[in-house]
Amino acid sequence: MSLEENIAKVKAGIARAAAEAGRDPEEITLVAATKVQTSETIRAAIAAGVTVCGENRVQELTGHLDDYAYDGARVHFIGHLQTNKVRFVVGRVDLIESVDSLRLLGAVERQAEKLNLVQDILLEVNIGHEESKGGCLPEDLPALARRAAELPHVRLRGLMAIPPAAAEPGDNRRFFAATRQLFVDIRSQIGDNDTDIDCLSMGMSGDYEDAIREGATLVRVGTALFGPRPPMHP
Ligand SMILES: *Cc1c(COP(=O)(O)O)cnc(C)c1O
Repeated sequence: MSLEENIAKVKAGIARAAAEAGRDPEEITLVAATKVQTSETIRAAIAAGVTVCGENRVQELTGHLDDYAYDGARVHFIGHLQTNKVRFVVGRVDLIESVDSLRLLGAVERQAEKLNLVQDILLEVNIGHEESKGGCLPEDLPALARRAAELPHVRLRGLMAIPPAAAEPGDNRRFFAATRQLFVDIRSQIGDNDTDIDCLSMGMSGDYEDAIREGATLVRVGTALFGPRPPMHP
């Protein structure tokens, strides 16, 4: 299938899941996970209707930015971010989805202050308590969220989570529901009037429809748009 057909298919899946959940499909944004894709493919995806690209490696992000590959779209950083690389990301992306520690939060704040801007962020939660995964533990989230809300150069917009790989379709739903509950809790904890907290990023190629049924507003989809990726060499 062509990229255009894949995009149409995923958008139809988003609309179907939204309808089933009684939600407005306009509330849900498709984030194209563009890791390992070329600048040319990214441009083609944007020409075909992708409005947000999600990049998870700093080096690829920088290369594509230098190429102006994302022109016409917004960019989210969705991968693990090392403190010593924040200067390549802060102020260059619309949203950093993967802030997961006080240390990283502090580094983002300092860089944003230096650039005299406010960086939108999500806090990433390790909802399955998996040792191999990034994200803060759910029990550490309230303190991290409180700190984020205090800082003048970051704007907390919500949460991101990558649940454990599902053995059977549907296995992930309880993790999406748990993330949604944390999102609701954080929103009430930070302040009722704070409408900035409006993003819940969860769901990938295999499970974005379930994530939408549980309240996702951002779904990060790679394989279903671009096809399988070559194996990763970390
Ligand atoms: C690669 C990636 C995705 C997309 O995964 P697919 O299964 O290919 O849809 C989503 N989120 C993050 C953080 C990723 O790195």
